Amino acid sequence: MILKLCILGSNSAKPAFNRHPSAQLLQVEEGYYLIDCGEGTQMQLMRYRYKSSKICRIFITHLHGDHFLGLPGLLDSFVLSGRVAPIHLYGPKGVDDILRFHFQLTGGGLSFPLHFQEVPTHEASIILETERISVQSIPLEHRVPCAGYIFREKEKERNILSEKIKQYNIPYPAIRAIKKGADFETDSGELIANELLTKAPPKPLSYAYCSDTSYSEFLLPYLHKIDLLYHESTYLNDCASMAAERGHTTAAEAARLAQKAEVRQLLLGHYSSRYRDLQPFLDESRPIFASTYLSKEGQEWEIGRLVE
Ligand SMILES: [Zn+2]
Ligand SMILES: [Zn+2]
Repeated sequence: MILKLCILGSNSAKPAFNRHPSAQLLQVEEGYYLIDCGEGTQMQLMRYRYKSSKICRIFITHLHGDHFLGLPGLLDSFVLSGRVAPIHLYGPKGVDDILRFHFQLTGGGLSFPLHFQEVPTHEASIILETERISVQSIPLEHRVPCAGYIFREKEKERNILSEKIKQYNIPYPAIRAIKKGADFETDSGELIANELLTKAPPKPLSYAYCSDTSYSEFLLPYLHKIDLLYHESTYLNDCASMAAERGHTTAAEAARLAQKAEVRQLLLGHYSSRYRDLQPFLDESRPIFASTYLSKEGQEWEIGRLVE
């Protein structure tokens, strides 16, 4: 399986130069996972023709408006369209309070179950395990409590070779065991090693979302060998001290973290609206970590497929 990531918003704080506040869509087998929901996210979903009804889980990093203000509107639209399917919402303490207050004062109820799970912001925690994916929250260093998210595919079963099934006349219950790694004993008592009957499954893929945060080497063990790391790079080197003061990162710092964590690819984003031209973000990061790319609205990333 290839995990597909869609960028809906790549800017920080306020919209500028056709760039929108933070929001991303991760397409998994279960449906869409929405990561952050800045103002205008539902407009972006429509613009790029993603059905919002397919969103089943929403992950909010923190309560700054550029990551959150699109959520009440999106949930309101779900109600207006008569949604009944549940939404699982993950985020730091307070996300549920704001939404409850909003729906109380606007007198509207929800037409669907909204399951909120508070995520810790001082320690890492596995917050979700499905059959195919596990999601871990990681603490980020920002001005308010903030969590990043790591999405990991689970190890798949081995692929059994169809010609071997015929050759050894392997019955169905044995196939299930072989896929899990068992050897096979034929009727004549010959033991066939698993490696001769199967091939290894594709390597499980991983995606990490780190925004907003200062440069933090605390994250290194969690980000080690991640396939795609999205890391905020609000500023360039000209504003390095401002980045540290405001709980943000420069492009060069994001690259240094990617290089130390030995990730496969780095995707930059959460650009400050003081920068119209984004090329300097690559100029400052690629000498440190060559596989660095810029996130842009409407872009689809197939995680695990190398981009030239
Ligand atoms: Zn932000
Ligand atoms: Zn923030």
